[in-house]
Formats: sequence, structure tokens, C-alpha cells
Amino acid sequence: MSARPAMPAPLDAPAPPRPDQPADIRARLGLRPIINVSGTMTALGASIVVPEAVAAVASVLREFVEIDDLQRKASGVIARLTGGEAGFVTASCSAGITLAIAAAMAGADLAAIERLPDATGMRNEVPILLGHMVGYGAPVEQAIRLAGARPVPVGQATEAEPYQMAGAIGPRAAAVLYVVSHHTVEYGQLSLEEVAEAAHATGVPVIVDAASEYDLKGFLARGADLACYSAHKFLGGPTAGIVAGRKALVRAAYLQNRGIGRGMKVGKEGMVGAIAALEAWEKRDHAAVRARARAALDLWREALGRRAGIRAEIVPDPTGNPLERLRVWVDPAAARITPWDLADALAAGRPPVIVRDHEVELGWFQLDPCNLHAGEERVVARRLEEELDRAHAANAPIATSLAERRRRRTTAVLAWPD
Ligand SMILES: *Cc1c(COP(=O)(O)O)cnc(C)c1O
Repeated sequence: MSARPAMPAPLDAPAPPRPDQPADIRARLGLRPIINVSGTMTALGASIVVPEAVAAVASVLREFVEIDDLQRKASGVIARLTGGEAGFVTASCSAGITLAIAAAMAGADLAAIERLPDATGMRNEVPILLGHMVGYGAPVEQAIRLAGARPVPVGQATEAEPYQMAGAIGPRAAAVLYVVSHHTVEYGQLSLEEVAEAAHATGVPVIVDAASEYDLKGFLARGADLACYSAHKFLGGPTAGIVAGRKALVRAAYLQNRGIGRGMKVGKEGMVGAIAALEAWEKRDHAAVRARARAALDLWREALGRRAGIRAEIVPDPTGNPLERLRVWVDPAAARITPWDLADALAAGRPPVIVRDHEVELGWFQLDPCNLHAGEERVVARRLEEELDRAHAANAPIATSLAERRRRRTTAVLAWPD
């Protein structure tokens, strides 16, 4: 059990300064000092990079290194942490998926590597469960097509059978892609073991997209030939990706850097940062991290507990990562505001608080404590109370239609850089 936190400071206390940190560059650039309770989001700068990785990045930036040697070192660290035979650092998990698919197509044939994404004469089909065809800011199936391959959807969105997977793995199958994510359909999907059995029956490798999964060993142990991770999510590394698994396939994926991988280049800073983040992960006090997160959840639940129209419950991560979030149900009639208007008000406030709202039409958003700086949890609690007070005092309920909200967001996306 996690220990109770020390007495919380008053809700309006400012966040304590971070004396070991350089001045916040956001002020100089005129950027809003957002507080991130949405999780690890590319659009918000991913995660808090751990001090070990910050130091490693700073120490290599001015030096030259032999990149193949640096990636050899990375391979050793990745192998130790994942249980795979080898590994390397990529630009991102998404890049890792594309390089892994390309490896399954072109292998270590240097001429074929230069021909991609023209896949003439190569195996070019990639079966993937339809319920796994998700987006994470871009469609996962586009990461397949980028290599010159063709995704082959398997089953229906909410159900799949082993015979459907077996039937989709034909003579042109290069690899099967298996996605582990809270984005996938949460029921009716085949297990990794079932997919691996079908693929390995005809010698086709299984690539796992495990971008956000804390489990560094499990997917390779359960039958994946390659597993791809993000370095900038739970690991707290700089933006990078990790590919791990069977040595021959890892080598083939690495060699794609001489082809389509060139446009997905990771630099020396990404490599040393990812190595440092992996080494720090081995030593991290995971229990203490969880206790801190739990204290924030308890604080928010208490702050919201007596509010009209609000129900807050602590929920586990849907894919089994060792983390919890606070699900905040908002009854628009009693709270006098919709959950999405509350989310938008928090995002527009001072300081901006960005909540996890991608399922908000279900009547709730979530607060994710995994990317908080010390003290920010109290600011979040205060901002929630202020916005709920404001809604309660307003003349009319605050209720934008979801369609209108979506339209506004799309308009804003298309208006960049204005
Ligand atoms: C974040 C994510 C990705 C993309 O990872 P990057 O390292 O940002 O490219 C891919 N798949 C899933 C399931 C993700 O959550």
C-alpha cells in the first residue's frame, strides 16, 4: 500500500520552484505554461525527461561519435532490458514500426532496401486486426504503407477469430502487426499468443507496437519477433523509439536506415538519451512514483467529492500498465456544464490545465497524474473548483454541442500557423 502523503499545502499555494532547473524557456518564447494531466502526449511535448537523460543529451551534443558503435551500445542495453537478442534506437515508435515492416520485406538485401517503398517482387502484405487499426496522432496503418506494404484488415472491429488471422496470412505476407494500446477495441480481439501461433505456422514474423507499454519483456516473451516502444513516454527519454527482438530482424530493421529510414533519422542525442532513460528505468523507485501519483488522485477525488453533479472514481489503466487515473463524471444538468466544456475551460484558464478528454462524449474525462511536477496537483484541484463554482453561478448551463466543438477544433488545426 502506498503511504499517505504529508499534509497537503493549501490549494492556492504556488508550485514550489525547481532550483535544479534552468529558467523556463516557455516564458521567453511566449508559450503558455500548461499543466499536463492528460498523459503522455506528443502534442504536449510527451513527458518529463528524467535527469539522467537530460545530462546524457547535454554531454554528447558537442562531441562526435561513431554512430554504429553507439547503436551497438544501445543494442546491449536494450537487449538487457527487453530480453531480446538485440535492439536499436529509432526516431520514434512509429518510425520503428515502419522500419520493422521494411525489414520483413527487404531483409538485409541492400539493393532491395534502396528500392523501397517500391515493393516489386517482395512480400508486401501486413495482416492487422481491424480492432487494432487505431490512430495515435496519425493512423497506424499509414506506418505500414510508408514502407511500401499493404495493410490487410483481419476480422471485424469488435471480433476476430484465429481462422480469420490464419486465412489472412497468405504467401505474400511479410509480417503481422499487433498493437497494444488503450486506443484498440478492448474486447473480442485475439491474444498475442494466438496471433503468433498463426503467423509462426508459416514463418511470418510478428511485430508488436508497444509504444506506451511499461512491460519491456512480456511481448517478446509471449511470441513477438520484434517489439517497438517510445523512449519519450513512460521511460522519460527524449523523443526517440526503441526496436528490440530477434537479432537477424533487428539487424535488417537497422539497415533500413540506409533507405527509407533516412527521413526518420535519430541523432546521437536521441540515442544517448534513450540509453540513459532505459538505465534510469532499471533503478527507478517505481513504488515511490506510484505513491506520488496516488496522492494526487486522492487529493483530486477529495476536492471533487462534495460537488453537485460530479462523481470521481480511480480507474486502472486499460492495458494493465501500473498506473491509475481519476475518471471525472460530469452530469451537465446538476453541474451546469458539460464535461467537454469543463475540459475546454480548464485548458483556456490560468494556468492552462489539459485533461485527458478523448472519450469525453461518454460523459467523463480523466486526470492522469503521471506527468506532474511537484505541487501542480494542487493547482489542478484549485482550477477544477474554480470552474465548477463559475458554472454553478452562471445564468445558463454551459453546453456547447459536441459537433460544434469538433468543428472548432478542426478549424483551429487548419489555421496553423495563424
Ligand atoms: C504513441 C504511440 C505510437 C507512436 O509513438 P511515437 O514514438 O510517438 O512515434 C504508436 N503506437 C501507439 C499505440 C502509441 O500509443
